[in-house]
Amino acid sequence: MKFGTKALHAGIEPDPSTGAIMTPIFQTSTYVQDEPGVHKGYAYARTKNPTRSVLEKNLAALENAAFGRCFSSGMSATETVIKTLTPGDEVICTADLYGGTYRLFTKVFAKYGIKFTFVDMLDVGNIEAAITDKTKLIWSETPTNPMMNIMDIRAISDIGRKNNIKVAVDNTFASPYLQNPLDLGADIVMHSVTKYIAGHSDVVMGFLGTNDPVTDEALGFIQNSGGAIPGPQDCFLALRGIKTLHVRMQRHCENGEKIAHFLRDHPKVEKVYWPGFEDHPNHEVAKRQMKYFGGMISFKQKEDTIEQANKTLSSFKIFSLAESLGGVESLVGHPATMTHASIPREHRLAVGLTDSLIRLSVGIEDVDDLIADLKQAIG
Ligand SMILES: *Cc1c(COP(=O)(O)O)cnc(C)c1O
Repeated sequence: MKFGTKALHAGIEPDPSTGAIMTPIFQTSTYVQDEPGVHKGYAYARTKNPTRSVLEKNLAALENAAFGRCFSSGMSATETVIKTLTPGDEVICTADLYGGTYRLFTKVFAKYGIKFTFVDMLDVGNIEAAITDKTKLIWSETPTNPMMNIMDIRAISDIGRKNNIKVAVDNTFASPYLQNPLDLGADIVMHSVTKYIAGHSDVVMGFLGTNDPVTDEALGFIQNSGGAIPGPQDCFLALRGIKTLHVRMQRHCENGEKIAHFLRDHPKVEKVYWPGFEDHPNHEVAKRQMKYFGGMISFKQKEDTIEQANKTLSSFKIFSLAESLGGVESLVGHPATMTHASIPREHRLAVGLTDSLIRLSVGIEDVDDLIADLKQAIG
């Protein structure tokens, strides 16, 4: 089955008791057993819920994963992967990680004796140089937020395999429509379902997929032990959102391309970060591993001051000033004071995230209106 068909049908059957075509919301915490231990596969809803099970199967299919698990947020999915490690273990991470991931690693898990090393993964030699006999995981993110750097998933996965180290990829910015890390050799794919997958800015959720039964069992043990699971209503909303994921992504990409070019040609814009440009440092890798280039764009104005950024940010009429991304409506954000405020300024500047950088999550509105809004906001 191709992607659009899987989005609508993979793992989804009409409800056997009624024929309802839409997966019911099983709002229940427990299930009646015929005899002690004799049940229909469901004993308690922290462990399993039928609405969640359908979503997990559907998302696993979209990532070409044998196993999938959903969590109460993207961060709780990430947390679950780290909880499979033991004090003393080391993790090698992409330098310009999502701010919340950086915070979770450095402020929460570092306390438990897990060591995180941040390297520039654009040069995969830096990963090899950072490997020690304690390295158990490589955590990568591509495209990165908000610099739109592209990591070569296949090259990183090859290093992982050669050194017997698991590779996890945060695939949130690409969505399963644009990129499938397991197909490129990664061991675990992670998503903030909150973003493109659910796609309507009404759910917070995370996902992990893998092809390895041992890894899946370890993740499932933590999922059930800790209980960071999404409720059935949210699973319903995510399933509903996924039915249009491919159609939405096509429009996000089309609008993104037009806006990236508009910005690049604008006399007041200094630099545009979008992997679709031929002179993007890793354009060739993006072309190889992604179906298209997505709807996330960052840019700097020639007047590179926080005042100019603030002036632009408060002038938008259609783009809404908000954190998050991947919803149907266009959002604009200021990473330095919003999504990445928890990253120290020196660390931000070192990866090119200056005070004036503006990030766009291009929605699926009519692109002419979005361009007109950008025109008047930049002035
Ligand atoms: C939003 C986001 C997360 C965190 O997901 P939540 O659902 O907000 O917990 C992780 N990684 C990336 C790239 C994100 O954009």
